[in-house]
Amino acid sequence: MAGPNSRRNTRCQRLRLRPVVPRPLAGQNLGGTDARTEEPHQPSRPRHARLAEATARAAVIPLALYIHIPWCAKKCPYCDFNSHPARGQIPEADYVQALLRDLDFELAQAPEARPLTSIFFGGGTPSLFSGAGIGAILDGVAQRLAFAPGIEITLEANPGTAEAQRFRDYRAAGVNRLSMGVQSLNDRHLKALGRIHGADEARAAVAMARDAGFDNLNLDLMFALPEQTLAEAEADLRGLLALAPEHVSYYHLTLEPNTEFAARPPTLPDSDLAYEMLERGQALIEAAGYAQYETSAYARPGRRAAHNLNYWRFGDYLGIGAGAHGKRTLDGRVLRRARHKHPKTFMETAGSAAGVQEQRAVDGAELAFEYVLNSLRLHEGFALADFRARTGLADTALEPALGRMLSKGLLERDGEVIRPTVLGRNHLNTLQMEFLPS
Ligand code: SF4
Repeated sequence: MAGPNSRRNTRCQRLRLRPVVPRPLAGQNLGGTDARTEEPHQPSRPRHARLAEATARAAVIPLALYIHIPWCAKKCPYCDFNSHPARGQIPEADYVQALLRDLDFELAQAPEARPLTSIFFGGGTPSLFSGAGIGAILDGVAQRLAFAPGIEITLEANPGTAEAQRFRDYRAAGVNRLSMGVQSLNDRHLKALGRIHGADEARAAVAMARDAGFDNLNLDLMFALPEQTLAEAEADLRGLLALAPEHVSYYHLTLEPNTEFAARPPTLPDSDLAYEMLERGQALIEAAGYAQYETSAYARPGRRAAHNLNYWRFGDYLGIGAGAHGKRTLDGRVLRRARHKHPKTFMETAGSAAGVQEQRAVDGAELAFEYVLNSLRLHEGFALADFRARTGLADTALEPALGRMLSKGLLERDGEVIRPTVLGRNHLNTLQMEFLPS
């Protein structure tokens, strides 16, 4: 078991609004669509019976859509997302067409009868796109796929690109949720983070969003910023809560490889101070009426993020755009695809097999690991019936780690439901790694 410092490190996990997808595991089958292998926990039955069962199982797995917009006004020094500084005019119209070609390619691989339960425009900075551009994408998607009643459509917005008319146009186009990267309300820290906005602009962007009719807002805030004190972290959070968002993402700034901060690290609060910021922050957010439901996510009642919940519950999602990842359950197996990361390469290849940079089937022990990697981030944990339904594996695929973690008190069992205990949440990385295939 990890020591006390590790407790702090593991608790302060970085926000992951993208699904958790581990790198391919050494020694596993990483083949493409033709590399089918038997799943060891499947009982021996005729292939057609297994296929029918798998098709029925996939039909009830929810389907979401992720759309990546890869440009930003400039690159933030801490950012390891697939974002590229916009140089000159963004080729918005060409990119919209490339996205729709990409979606056509994806659907040509296997048609979809499932309606979309959520759509997420992530980046990058999707708010660099015009309302007309976002509307054209949504219209194109609606011509190809059904929307479930009450579909959540989120767009990530940078307060530095906020414009009142643009927000109204997004709302008119069908976007019903904005996610804003506020990150801090202290101008000194915003500057240290290389953000293109100040605190006043962030407050103004929230007011513009409300005026435009958005009644569902997520605000991102980071802590453990360069030379940040506990009092400053608290002041940031109080200022953010005063803006009354429906959802808060409160997360730890970490140094990621291949970023400017990794090359020239700023002075950051030590792990004890970062842990205090986390604990104090959690208490403040919960006292303001939000319930924590995931490592970094807090929501007012009924306002949990449907799109992110689908990732963490191991639902399916199509991923279109530069560097986008998708996960689909097809013919009883989970298939992951990733597009080329560079916008130019993506636009040149979108709509053909050449647009796919990586494709692999996930099964057996690797699939069980991916499932727990996502679902154990949720305080609610998972039901064993869901594990079976979404992976096609038997409960025994979780052993011996499940029994070991139950007996050590990192997991608890309530009938069919397995959830992390407070101890397990404090040691989340350790807990997840217990399920790593040997
Ligand atoms: S605005 Fe967001 S996506 Fe763009 S560089 Fe900064 S952190 Fe990365």
